[in-house]
Amino acid sequence: MNTEQESIRCMASCPVCGRGLCKAVPHSVVEMHCPKCKNPLLVCFENNGVSVKVLDRSGSAGAPGHGTVC
Ligand SMILES: [Zn+2]
Repeated sequence: MNTEQESIRCMASCPVCGRGLCKAVPHSVVEMHCPKCKNPLLVCFENNGVSVKVLDRSGSAGAPGHGTVC
């Protein structure tokens, strides 16, 4: 039940299902798909943490998908 473990060096987690995603250095942006719920995510690493956004995939139909692996 601990939600304040932000000292774990910018560990991103999925805002939809809560699964841990990946780590990265500050000031980097990672675009990836959640391995669990398959939602497209945009992960923005900053100085003091990380913010994860769920990308809206409506309007871009026809794309076979990227092979982004963290
Ligand atoms: Zn997820």
